[in-house]
Amino acid sequence: MTTLIYGLGESGISATRALLDRHEQVIAADANDSEMLRDTLSDLGVEGRLGAGPEILNGVERVVVSPGISPRDAVLCAAEARRIPVLSEVELGLELLGPEVRTIAVTGTNGKTTVVDMIRNILQEAAMPHAVAGNSWCALMGCLDEVGRAGLLVLEVSSFQLHYMQDPGFEVAALLNVRPDHLNWHASFEEYVEDKLRVFEGQGPESLALVSAVDPVGREAAMGFSAETLAVGEDDTVVRDGRLFLRGKEIAGEDELRFAGTHNLENALFAAAASERMGADLQQIRAGLLGYRLKPHRMEVVAERGGVLYVDDSKATNPAAVAAAVASFERPIVLILGGSEKHTDFAEIIPLLDRCRAVVCQGEAGLRISDYARKMWHGLVSVVRDLAEAVEEAESLARPGDVVLLSPGCASFDQFAGYEERGRAFARLVAGEYAAGHVFEGRG
Ligand code: ADP
Repeated sequence: MTTLIYGLGESGISATRALLDRHEQVIAADANDSEMLRDTLSDLGVEGRLGAGPEILNGVERVVVSPGISPRDAVLCAAEARRIPVLSEVELGLELLGPEVRTIAVTGTNGKTTVVDMIRNILQEAAMPHAVAGNSWCALMGCLDEVGRAGLLVLEVSSFQLHYMQDPGFEVAALLNVRPDHLNWHASFEEYVEDKLRVFEGQGPESLALVSAVDPVGREAAMGFSAETLAVGEDDTVVRDGRLFLRGKEIAGEDELRFAGTHNLENALFAAAASERMGADLQQIRAGLLGYRLKPHRMEVVAERGGVLYVDDSKATNPAAVAAAVASFERPIVLILGGSEKHTDFAEIIPLLDRCRAVVCQGEAGLRISDYARKMWHGLVSVVRDLAEAVEEAESLARPGDVVLLSPGCASFDQFAGYEERGRAFARLVAGEYAAGHVFEGRG
């Protein structure tokens, strides 16, 4: 079997190495050509082509594709036309691992990393051997041995990875929510939904499907599931009177946890239900959640000064995540929005803007968002050039008791190398380490 590894990022490199180790026939290719890719190919020591087009498919029996590549890419379209199977690197990994490995798969527009991380914390408390892989973690193909040894995989899986998966049959599949995002990659919202729902394909009555009670996509799909299905946020798996319940059993009080926000309590219930299924008991789940701290740049308090709380939610790169953040505060908010332009529809946050003292729009998408916000909301909207100016503006608008919230609803690439760099810059600006007008490294 000759496999074409298409896309030479982290997952493509791992997939090539894993197949070469298994003495399989491999061709490695990428549509781009750069010095870095040339070095990658020569390090791999494999037959390959850069700047590849559909001709690369000659003699190929299957294609393993990296998640970043659009399904409308010329090579992938040609593969489809020629009926050459295309699978994601994750599917290949699962195939090589075989059915003995028990898997929890977590997908959704927002919250995947947090839920996976919470599950990891619980499994650690329970001293249950496990491995974490996928999407924002290490590529599955890069840690097959570790996963095989652990026998239990917690997999974060994106819609891109699910697009090229068939009937994965996960023991536990969780769909946290589905909101418009990545519509530059998917042909339509309908395609995005279809891809997300693939996480449940191949599940039988012995599997567990987790959906959110407040997510219409998951709820509707669940009506046709043969797996045992739990709607998180209703019946006996809920937050009631400030206490978290899993299947009617109390896990913890909200005030005992080190994280806040309705969305994070829901994330905790997803993590609890998934871990319980794998064998964690109530005490272990409780301990795992009590000790859990959110990862950086997700609702992270970076300073409190003059009675104003400064919160870095740089990871909020779509309006649904902004809505979750805004809904989490009782205090008046000075909200900083904007970043790279993805032409995202911000309608979802409009009803929540009355919680804001002001909205400060910045970056490439700043002007468009400010025009829209002014049309839809009668509060104070200002527009500035970049994040540095936005922090200065927000500081001047905030009053004691307020929160200045960076929850931009946009990617960061107009000014930064990624959301982490943007979050770190915010913290430094708040600390007064930079003044407006400072040019950050990586600014485009
Ligand atoms: P992902 O891995 O899906 O991008 P993260 O856990 O990294 O998710 O969180 C991304 C952003 O979404 C953060 O701003 C976070 O506060 C927000 N978020 C987390 N969970 C949810 C949820 N269940 N619903 C809405 N927003 C969420």
